[in-house]
Amino acid sequence: MDVILVVNSGSSSLKFALYPLTEGNGKPLLSGVVSGIGVNPKLSAKLAGKSLTVKPPFDNIAKEATHDSLIKALLEKLESKYDQYQPVAVGHRMVHGGNLFTKPSKITPESLQQLKSLIPLAPLHQPHSIVAIEAIAKNAPELLQIACFDTSFHRTQSKIEQMFAIPRALTEEGIIRYGFHGLSYEYIASVLPEYLGDQADSRVLVAHLGNGTSMCAMTDRKSVSSTMGFSTLEGLVMGTRCGLLDAGVILHLIQEKGMSIDEVQKMLYHESGLLGVSGISSDMRELEESDHPDAKQAIDLFCHRAKEEIGNLTSVMNGLDNIIFTAGIGENSAMVREKICEPLAWLGVKLDLQANQNGEGKISAEDSRVGVYVIPTNEEATIAKSTRGFL
Ligand code: AMP
Repeated sequence: MDVILVVNSGSSSLKFALYPLTEGNGKPLLSGVVSGIGVNPKLSAKLAGKSLTVKPPFDNIAKEATHDSLIKALLEKLESKYDQYQPVAVGHRMVHGGNLFTKPSKITPESLQQLKSLIPLAPLHQPHSIVAIEAIAKNAPELLQIACFDTSFHRTQSKIEQMFAIPRALTEEGIIRYGFHGLSYEYIASVLPEYLGDQADSRVLVAHLGNGTSMCAMTDRKSVSSTMGFSTLEGLVMGTRCGLLDAGVILHLIQEKGMSIDEVQKMLYHESGLLGVSGISSDMRELEESDHPDAKQAIDLFCHRAKEEIGNLTSVMNGLDNIIFTAGIGENSAMVREKICEPLAWLGVKLDLQANQNGEGKISAEDSRVGVYVIPTNEEATIAKSTRGFL
């Protein structure tokens, strides 16, 4: 059976999934994730939704395994152990398309050079995707490769929305607000009719709350605004990233505290957010279980910033009809959803507390003016769908 291989190459993880060529129920035939790359890599995998005990080479991942060696092992494994599935194309998640890529694109030697030129815009994400592309080109050159971008979905935003108030020449150079998590938002936009019916095209705020967090304001299921801008740092509090930060803080750290650029980068991307504030963990589950006051304060700040940005995006949309929670925290933490929604009563948001505990589908009360929903995201299904379009 011909299949599409979806690859999502993160800084310390490699997610993969096999999808049929025909659009099925959005579920993969086989999927897995190698986490802890560079530290202690381990694999978990599922076959048609069921956990899988994975045989070598995967249950034997070398400590020094890299994205490159894992892709090679994955291709070999598919050929030797899952030969009922023959990949004919690979869809990659690419974090940054800059202003060069506004829709999914076939990867050619020329476009690969363009993708490399965007590394400075996403230095922690883009290089891993490029390694995966090159590893596939080397080990399975016959495969069609497609890049799908987290930034594309937001290109419907107005020019004003994408601008910073900096000298015009810099804006023209591409220092603009790109927005991210677009593959997740595109998936949510595609399933809104199932959940909202004739409200699908209303003013919808999607809160993608995972390790990375952002919000997207949509009308007519298109992005009109988002909380992430030029890099994956802006906006909400994240697992280890800071979100909103006065640019003057960065100048102060460099000029007055003598921090190097690398030190500042490490602090902003890896030592801030929930981890930085709590000093305990970047993982919301651990913070919820902790009774340390700093853990509580980290959650409070996370929810406070979310509440602030909901006000911001509501104003951009001239109102709000529906809120969607998605991704790890958005889908699973009833506590966070309640803490964010409870102070929004003035806006017409009222949760059904029991439905919020159940955490599936509609969670707002019958008399809530604004509908609130939990919808699981599926970035891989978006990538598979876009890749199908090239076959
Ligand atoms: P993601 O990046 O979408 O995989 O989301 C990861 C985040 O989701 C981490 O902060 C996890 O702690 C959080 N998460 C996953 N499951 C739960 C849960 N049951 N309760 C609270 N947070 C959760």
